Amino acid sequence: MRRKMAAGNWKMNGSVAGLDMISALASAHSDSGCDIVICPPAHLLMSAAKRAGTGPVAVGAQDCHASDKGAHTGDIAAPMIAETGAAYVITGHSERRETYGETDAAVRDKSAAAQGCGLVPIVCIGESLEQREAGEALPVIRAQLENSVPEGSTGATLVVAYEPIWAIGTGKIPTLDQIAEVHTALRADLVARFGPEGDKIRLLYGGSVKPGNAADIFGTKDVDGALVGGASLTADDFSPIIAALTAS
Ligand code: PEP
Repeated sequence: MRRKMAAGNWKMNGSVAGLDMISALASAHSDSGCDIVICPPAHLLMSAAKRAGTGPVAVGAQDCHASDKGAHTGDIAAPMIAETGAAYVITGHSERRETYGETDAAVRDKSAAAQGCGLVPIVCIGESLEQREAGEALPVIRAQLENSVPEGSTGATLVVAYEPIWAIGTGKIPTLDQIAEVHTALRADLVARFGPEGDKIRLLYGGSVKPGNAADIFGTKDVDGALVGGASLTADDFSPIIAALTAS
């Protein structure tokens, strides 16, 4: 049985004052039985991890460099993230793939660096609208999975998030059948590659998850939770999503 996960990606939003949300989520969902993760911008990681303490909310970063240290102005290394007390890091988000030209190989190296210091990467993959309309969604996503996920990954060291690019921040989501089709294919590929461990790797859906559609998405086959952007910015939106996941 895979433990469910609700991860919030704050992107370039949030403030020290906004970390109060961690305490609000912790008291509202102390017994959720799910992993709840907040991924704030890098400057808030240490404060967020202190605020989260040993409670039910964990903290994640939004990116890491593949090297442990060096002349990489503006970047942050995985061991530095681990030092803040964070436990997760998002890798390969489509906004980084698009803006910074991150390739699958770069995402795999970042994810391996994260695993190397005990962080769990949440590896993002997903097709563009053009690729979906051309009937190429499945081969594109499967190739991203194959090439972005490090060898030796296990259920304890990897989370995968399927995020169709055209669903991110748009209010559009795939049909539940389309989500199920992708997650079923990803599950089969993970099991083919990693054996029984592949069945333990969590598969999140991401892209316009809101309180109003969360229950349907969480009822979809092989969906183990969500990576949530806009609706993770306030407890009013994120809390009902966590509640829907708990109830699923
Ligand atoms: C995301 O950016 O990872 C995301 C899922 O965003 P949103 O929920 O706002 O579509």
